[in-house]
Amino acid sequence: MAPAAKLSKSAGRKSPPSHSHDSGQTPARRPAVLDRLASFARLVVASPAGARGGGPVEVLSPFDHSLIGTLPRSTPEDVVLAQARLRIAQEEWAQRPFADRAKIFLRFHDRLLDRQEEILDLIQLEAGKARKHALEEVLDSAIVARYYAVHAAEILAPQSRKGALPGLTQAWQYQHPKGIIGIISPWNYPLSMGITDAIPALLAGNAVLAKPDLQTPFSQLWALDLLIECGLPEEIMLVVAGEGTVLGPSILAASDYLQFTGSTPTGRKLAAEAGSQLMGCSLELGGKNPMLVLADADLSAAVAGAVRGSFSSAGQLCISIERLYVHESLFDRFVAEFVRATRSLKLGSALDWSCDVGSLASPKQLATVTRHIQDAAAKGVRIEVGGKARPDLGPLFFEPTILTGVTPEMLLFADETFGPVVSVYPFATNQQAIELANATEYGLNASIWSRDTELARRMATRIHAGTVNINEAYAAAWGSVEAPMGGFKSSGLGRRHGSEGILKYTEAQTVAVQRGMAIAAPTGVPDEVFGRWMTQALRALRRMPGLR
Ligand code: NAD
Repeated sequence: MAPAAKLSKSAGRKSPPSHSHDSGQTPARRPAVLDRLASFARLVVASPAGARGGGPVEVLSPFDHSLIGTLPRSTPEDVVLAQARLRIAQEEWAQRPFADRAKIFLRFHDRLLDRQEEILDLIQLEAGKARKHALEEVLDSAIVARYYAVHAAEILAPQSRKGALPGLTQAWQYQHPKGIIGIISPWNYPLSMGITDAIPALLAGNAVLAKPDLQTPFSQLWALDLLIECGLPEEIMLVVAGEGTVLGPSILAASDYLQFTGSTPTGRKLAAEAGSQLMGCSLELGGKNPMLVLADADLSAAVAGAVRGSFSSAGQLCISIERLYVHESLFDRFVAEFVRATRSLKLGSALDWSCDVGSLASPKQLATVTRHIQDAAAKGVRIEVGGKARPDLGPLFFEPTILTGVTPEMLLFADETFGPVVSVYPFATNQQAIELANATEYGLNASIWSRDTELARRMATRIHAGTVNINEAYAAAWGSVEAPMGGFKSSGLGRRHGSEGILKYTEAQTVAVQRGMAIAAPTGVPDEVFGRWMTQALRALRRMPGLR
């Protein structure tokens, strides 16, 4: 649908000059965690040859391009060495009683919350985000650790199953660890994505071979260091540091299952490689997530939700909102309020709670956001607020941006921007809103705002997305870790969270015991007679509800 330009009273208005910003661009204090980073090098599997090849990995802060720390660089040969070490460690780990393993993760939960200031500093410095968005990662990691530590034993416990012939066959289902789980994670949520998939993998008795993004490896290493302090054996999770394209093939070859979070094009490539290896994989990929504001929505709550949904982690959140559909009766008021709230957001790099939005994470992200905005501007988009880089605040800051009048010819109409840019469109009927929400190749997350939550729930089930949040943008479904999370369509394969999020790291095995009579014709009974017995038995079973 072409957006109805006439609905916007602000059409044609020039975007206002700037958002609020903090006074200092450079962090005023030196965070203590920086002094510990050198010790994390021991957790990276890297031989001296790696350093000779590409040189050490240098991690720069997006806030000001200052050097946070360095790590040794891993090579494909290091991945082979890591695999050999993990195989040995996994055998012993899988034999440990489940309760021993669970204790480690409950301890991790407590110490993570106790020591959150340290990791909040580190996430902010590595990923360039505001502290409140770094906090989401700490909360997520704690929730996931608690959930699986408490519930994994029950999910993985052997189950008695109905046997082939009641009374004669008994069957049980067992879940065995797959072995080595390869986990390749992105830079946008370096703690969450670096550790929350590893937790169920480890609890299920696997070893983990992890490759964080080279922009943000330290948050994952910090978490691993804490897990080791909590009792995790040093050899059961090993990290390799290198470019995905360089280490990817050897990681796949070394793994028994792949957990990947990242872009859809990389996910497709890795799924094809995993397929050729006949290896399972779970892929958490991109999104172009819609939010629907229905005619009866609480306007101010929806505006606050739109701000959170669109600009958390400067929009570099796979489940953030990039398309906002607002009922035409509310459209003008909504846009005006949304612009006002967005303009008051405070941008900055302070390592405290004073800023609302941080920086983009890399020059690549800044280039994508800039390209999308310039393309849309050239094709006549209305920039209601934002639309500009803010080099005065730091090299990668970009203003939270609201657009109206977006048309299908514009790149950002359908492509994921993965930045602080949201397009607002009017709709006339709920049916039309659902159709608009579904008109995308992606299906990761969606949000519906309405005072009629029953109506919203019915609408939610018609939206093709792995999570749908009602009267919240993304946090309600993300935080409900007993329920699965993942993508429809090009947004992924498989799920994290819930029983799906741990069963995928296991092989199901059925063990069946036959007693009394074999499932074959007894000696002296012709096969034809046995066939009649079995036919009668199946007909009888069909009529016995307790046994079928
Ligand atoms: P990316 O695919 O380029 O990189 C992600 C990770 O994969 C990095 O560690 C990278 O080194 C590695 N990698 C890249 N090419 C590889 C290859 N050929 N073989 C093996 N590993 C390889 O993704 P990105 O652009 O850096 O990350 C942003 C994307 O991630 C966005 O599209 C976003 O939506 C998505 N994302 C999705 C989720 C989710 O849960 N669905 C969460 C966070 C990010």
